[in-house]
Amino acid sequence: MKIVLISPSGIMYRKKDGIFPRALRYAPLTLTTLASLVPQELNAQITLIDEGVEHFDPNIEANLVGISAITGTSNRAYAIARHFRHRGIPVVMGGVHTTLMPQEAKLYADSVVTGLAYESWPRCLNDFNQGNLQPFYSQQPNISLEGLPFPRKDLLKKFSYLSNGSTQATFGCPYRCDFCAVVATQKSYLRRPAHEMIDEIRRIKSKFIVFVDPSPMEDRDYAMQLYREMIPLKKQWGGLSTVKAADDDELMDLVAKSGCKGLLLGFESVTQESANQINKRFNKVEIYKDVVRRLHDRGIAINGTFMFGMDSDTEDSFKQTVDFVNEAKIDLPRYAIYTPFPGTPIYQRLEKEGRILTKNWTLYDGQHVVYQPKCMTAERLREGHLWAWKNTYAVKSILNRISDVSGFPMIPFITNLGYRYYANRLKNFPDDIMVQLNTQWNDSLNHSSDLNLAKHQSTIGACG
Ligand code: SF4
Repeated sequence: MKIVLISPSGIMYRKKDGIFPRALRYAPLTLTTLASLVPQELNAQITLIDEGVEHFDPNIEANLVGISAITGTSNRAYAIARHFRHRGIPVVMGGVHTTLMPQEAKLYADSVVTGLAYESWPRCLNDFNQGNLQPFYSQQPNISLEGLPFPRKDLLKKFSYLSNGSTQATFGCPYRCDFCAVVATQKSYLRRPAHEMIDEIRRIKSKFIVFVDPSPMEDRDYAMQLYREMIPLKKQWGGLSTVKAADDDELMDLVAKSGCKGLLLGFESVTQESANQINKRFNKVEIYKDVVRRLHDRGIAINGTFMFGMDSDTEDSFKQTVDFVNEAKIDLPRYAIYTPFPGTPIYQRLEKEGRILTKNWTLYDGQHVVYQPKCMTAERLREGHLWAWKNTYAVKSILNRISDVSGFPMIPFITNLGYRYYANRLKNFPDDIMVQLNTQWNDSLNHSSDLNLAKHQSTIGACG
């Protein structure tokens, strides 16, 4: 059996034609984990396609195609699904957006897998093999994460990623921020056995480990055990943390000792009112600068994420945030527009208030305005967001923010230049261009399938 697994790309992140000529990311876990879960007895030949790093051959041979989509890539996923079904190849869809919108995904797929796929995906494949594919497969919420297979990173395109050291210890999050698609899809907070994580990290060849867990330290005892057991492995790592966890000195001492070199912190807003409004009141704005300083003292760089457009945000929010970022010396700030992903509480509220401006999912990538903000126009939100990116990645701001970096400042300087490149090109992807490019991209795929079908039919005609 030939199985092709595809991760579609958003317009801004596709290979060559996106913002970056080359993808700057770590090896993906979704495709590689799905590949590792394919039952051995199927003796399947598996091909992985990550559209962020490669174009795929529309004529690729397959008995079954699996597509995993987030909201921003779902339109592209549907076009790909249509293409393969047009060729008579069954399609299974999964991923975050599919879990949030299973009925919508079912319009484009033969079968839909929702939630974590550890048990349901192999079941789906066995059913398919027996000619008994079901329309829906869902995962039990409290599934055991013991004995998970090692992700098949050997199937990825070589030399395409900054790091192959990606892994994940926890799933879900105990908090309930109103915009968060993670907790809208994964209700319970799950942990893999710490000793299995240590075995996996030991097997990863890369010196640098990337933990992709959205909220890895919320079970403090578990996190402490994991980081303690990582110390002898002498790895370096980066991952995510809440500001609340980063305020815990004992935990952060251990985090640093276990090799942590960088943390992504979701600050979201520099005003307590906005933090409260998005149900992130555990973020205490008054401790932000102190937390940053204490992490820097431990040699941990900070990738700080901020959002614009919450109901209490005003036109002053952009400058307030950029000033904070410069004063606190956040190593790598990142800005997003508050985005109501379907299935989240904020989507439901804005829908009820009649403030959703578009349901074109291509624009739901965190960098476009898809709803009517409360205290400014949508246009001002767009402009302010672009201004914040540009201002933060002006050379003067970069030099100011990395001036205190101890040791070798070349790495923060290079990563800041990468973000500067992104900031300067973001303006090239306004809403109308995004939609137009996506339509053209998808149409070319459909045309290629039409041409292939015509070719196939004329061959049949010639033979018959
Ligand atoms: S803390 Fe992070 S992962 Fe948890 S609900 Fe909030 S945004 Fe989601």
